[in-house]
Amino acid sequence: MSKVNVEAVKAASRGLRGSLPEEFANGDAFLTDEAKTLIKFHGSYQQEDRDERKGERGDRGEKYYQFMIRTRIPGGQMSAEQYLLHDALAGEFGNETLRITTRQAFQLHGIIKRDLPGTLRRLNGALITTLAACGDVVRNVMACPAPTNNAQQRAVQDFAEMLSTELLPRTNAYHQIWIDGKELIEEEAEPLYGKTYLPRKFKVAVAIPGDNCVDVFTDDVGLVAIFDEAEPEKLLGFNVTAGGGMGTTHNNDETFARLGDLIGFVTPDQVIETVKAIVTIHRDFGDRTNRKHARLKYVLHEWGVEKFRAELASRVPFPIQTAQPMPPFHVQDHLGWTDQGDGCWALGVPIENGRIVDRGDFRLRTALRRVIETYRPGVRLTPQQNILLTDIAPEHRAAIDDLLAAHQVLKVETISGVRRNGLACPALPTCGLAIAESERALPGILDQIEAVLTDLGIPNEPITVRMTGCPNGCARPYVSEIAFVGRSLNKYMLYLGGNFVGTRLARPFLDLVPGDDLAVALRPLLTLFRDTRTPDESFGDFVERIGFDALREQVLIAYPAAKLPKAGRETSRAEVA
Ligand code: SF4
Repeated sequence: MSKVNVEAVKAASRGLRGSLPEEFANGDAFLTDEAKTLIKFHGSYQQEDRDERKGERGDRGEKYYQFMIRTRIPGGQMSAEQYLLHDALAGEFGNETLRITTRQAFQLHGIIKRDLPGTLRRLNGALITTLAACGDVVRNVMACPAPTNNAQQRAVQDFAEMLSTELLPRTNAYHQIWIDGKELIEEEAEPLYGKTYLPRKFKVAVAIPGDNCVDVFTDDVGLVAIFDEAEPEKLLGFNVTAGGGMGTTHNNDETFARLGDLIGFVTPDQVIETVKAIVTIHRDFGDRTNRKHARLKYVLHEWGVEKFRAELASRVPFPIQTAQPMPPFHVQDHLGWTDQGDGCWALGVPIENGRIVDRGDFRLRTALRRVIETYRPGVRLTPQQNILLTDIAPEHRAAIDDLLAAHQVLKVETISGVRRNGLACPALPTCGLAIAESERALPGILDQIEAVLTDLGIPNEPITVRMTGCPNGCARPYVSEIAFVGRSLNKYMLYLGGNFVGTRLARPFLDLVPGDDLAVALRPLLTLFRDTRTPDESFGDFVERIGFDALREQVLIAYPAAKLPKAGRETSRAEVA
């Protein structure tokens, strides 16, 4: 809970400067609440290592303040040099790990305050910004990172980069504070955002037709590229969705997860103006009195689609056309080797929960650094927190495989379907909002689920399993087939019913399930799934077909301690038609 009036802090900040220059010049280890609010817009959060509360430092009543830095990487695409710089900074100033976010960016954790300015300066020297990676602005623009070198992929990825640049704040504060230190002469105008920026964060994703790897319906604005059927390389435009969002608050029916509505279709020359117009609708009509109710999804929910379309139409000088038909969605993770179609290959390396780390004999961070230093591939971060190494000559494939194997990096073929499709947010010990473990707990819970699936004779069943340490939903749990959302220390709300392709919301199935009981509660459902599924039916679709009442009866026989969630807004159902 913020102790400051965020709207007042933004308004008085002189284009996001506030007291940041002075506070980074003093010797304190931490920032004031006002500066903590503004540093988010510069791509950083002040955090505390919550594990340290249990140690000597905690006994002395001291907090171990540190900063998370998030880089803004449109579509998750970067050069080998940019990857290597992230890696070097994680070693020099961070906690020696890199974390791929669920929005195709990198987070560096454990930076202490005095090292933050130099870290941002080094990143900037490699043309990497952190501006607007966090805060009440449009965040990193996601895009399908598929490595196939064809015109459709290139069009979507190039467009995401252009859109991201268009949506950046215009303030020069970032440069002034972190890069050149020049005095502010006059505050710059922010034509898109205004003096108080947006009421809350705003997320944008771009999908290619038929592949929903970016979870396009969970974003404030989603764009689905539409190509000409007769001339597949010709981009006709984009279907536009609006009003998706994941964050909820437990026991607060005013907050809920929501899938974006299909608003219409616009041509390539109209799309940037359309997205900007939607951003201004959020700017002008989003709730600035209650941050829990401030996302664009609540405007859509309260207005309905027709009123939203009319408002949008009044803000652009062209008609919003009817949405074009789209092929059914699937999701590809591009793990393993892919022929790019241009003589080169790409390798998708699975990264459990996005954490690039060396731990014992498992030397993932070292292995990636060596491969990237030696072969200089392109690098892409995926929305599933994995990494793609692209543009690899065929003759280097075997050596890269050997190098990864020598560092105990697992091949995708050896990973189960649930682990391959698992996502977790960082939660403890760094996230200040976490009320339960997530990244550190999910691997062990997946061990237990894998044991159940192996017992049932379906060890490689692909099922999406997502976990978060609080209901904010950073790992997009509310579209997952199975999700665990932190309720209190080591207790989780179990969500079921989302689908593999991210077009249906999950709903609360059981409440307050202890972490060690999650696999126990799932066993009767997975057993029934194995025994009664229809051909090729996925677990999420099976759950929808059987229904929660019948499934809960099964669970209560095998797991009588199960607690049902209270009925409320969170139980509302939504599916993309
Ligand atoms: Fe933190 Fe909650 Fe987001 Fe997890 S979902 S990273 S606990 S805010």
